[in-house]
Amino acid sequence: MRMNEYKMDIGLEIHIELSTDTKIFCKCSTQFGCEPNVNTCPVCTGMPGALPVLNKQAVRYAAAVGDALNCKINTISKFDRKNYYYPDNPQNYQITQFYTPICENGYLEIDTIDGKKNIGIREIHMEEDAGKLLHNDLKNVSFIDYNRAGVPLIEIVTMPDFSNGDEVTCFLEKLRLIIQYLQVSDCKLNEGSMRVDVNLSVRKKECEELGTRTEMKNLNSFRAIKRAIDNEASRQIEVLKNGGIIDMETRRWDDLKEESFVMRSKEEAKDYRYFPEPDLPMVYVDDAMLKDIELSKPQFRHEKNDYYINELKIPEYDAKLITLDYDMTVLFEETVKICDKPKNISNWLIGEANRILKEKEWDACDIKMSPKNFAMFVNMVSEGIINSNVAKVVFEKMFLEDINPEKYVEENGLKQNSDGEMIKKIVQDVINDNEQSVRDYKAGKDKAIGYLVGQVMKKAAGKANPKLVNELLLEELRKDM
Ligand code: ADP
Ligand code: MG
Ligand code: ZN
Repeated sequence: MRMNEYKMDIGLEIHIELSTDTKIFCKCSTQFGCEPNVNTCPVCTGMPGALPVLNKQAVRYAAAVGDALNCKINTISKFDRKNYYYPDNPQNYQITQFYTPICENGYLEIDTIDGKKNIGIREIHMEEDAGKLLHNDLKNVSFIDYNRAGVPLIEIVTMPDFSNGDEVTCFLEKLRLIIQYLQVSDCKLNEGSMRVDVNLSVRKKECEELGTRTEMKNLNSFRAIKRAIDNEASRQIEVLKNGGIIDMETRRWDDLKEESFVMRSKEEAKDYRYFPEPDLPMVYVDDAMLKDIELSKPQFRHEKNDYYINELKIPEYDAKLITLDYDMTVLFEETVKICDKPKNISNWLIGEANRILKEKEWDACDIKMSPKNFAMFVNMVSEGIINSNVAKVVFEKMFLEDINPEKYVEENGLKQNSDGEMIKKIVQDVINDNEQSVRDYKAGKDKAIGYLVGQVMKKAAGKANPKLVNELLLEELRKDM
């Protein structure tokens, strides 16, 4: 993108669904993917007279995120009503924290091409999620699912400290890992448990004051965010160069068209008629909760990296890949507990496991394989019970369906054949049947051996011990040389 005499400023508003078992103001389940409207009650469907009761776990999670992002955690915070009508909002107001959020004034350090940089966190507040509208254009009707209404959210608001899309991506990746390691959300952009709005403005390089910003929504992947940022900066520069002005507006990104469209002009606080929520008392974060957060703080990524490299003795490359996903670290560590072969375990995770994840477009949390079966498998491979080709097949089956590898190998007759006598007989047969290749080998064409090994493996249905096959074959061929 050509920025020339312009630079951009970006601030993010990030909504994250907290993975509490129940909603923020009622006891309905927060489970994702249920039949529409099964997780509802009078509170989360806005029935008259229903009263909210705050979920303590949600408060703890919000404070834990604030702690990890170096925020000041307010001992007392409050809830407010944000009033607006929309069918996904059954109360006609959203309960949020407007005047006094739970956390303020934090920062997160990121790596940029110019070195380290702190991105300011203006605040983190708690609020309730809205329901989900499902539009059916063919029938020209819309449906509403209130399962999501009342799911606890935190909104993280950054300062306009980012200068480009790479900084945004770096920040979001780091933030997502922190939150996953804290286990307060799975942060899936494609399922909406992490939603990022990008506020962006541009200004002349010598200009001190920030430009007028737009806000962009509907960004469903990190790649989409990066593309949307570049696109919006170019659009604004184009407008300014042509002597136009930027309208403060909310835009919707269309990732297929690679374009954004105006959704609405920017709303202001006064449009929402905020006022203190009369049905909820103040929120206290007491010393006991702060202490609990401190005590249950997890090992974050860099600490885990050090532990894997220094204590479990796996290469830095492996450690970095495994710690890229919290669920992967759990699988790795649990398996190491049962089978003390960290390097063998990490080999399978960074190799085959990552390959299958990519192919299936899964996250590590979708892996079916239990640490118990995985450990059993790793032992079977290192004891030579199955050969490496069979191992790949068994691994994939176990990864996708959590089969018991011992049982599976037994039932399907996949054990490696290390029976010397039997392999010797097959080797004899192959030598007799392939005179030409034998002659080639003896005439110095080393490549011929590969073909002969292949023939033996084929006859042994792929289960022969390849090392043994090689040895026996060479032994036979060299006999009369
Ligand atoms: P509002 O509450 O009206 O949405 P805020 O002042 O809270 O506005 O800012 C929302 C987000 O927009 C924050 O992330 C902030 O950093 C960012 N932001 C504010 N002004 C600008 C600007 N001129 N350019 C880019 N981002 C901005
Ligand atoms: Mg805002
Ligand atoms: Zn409910």
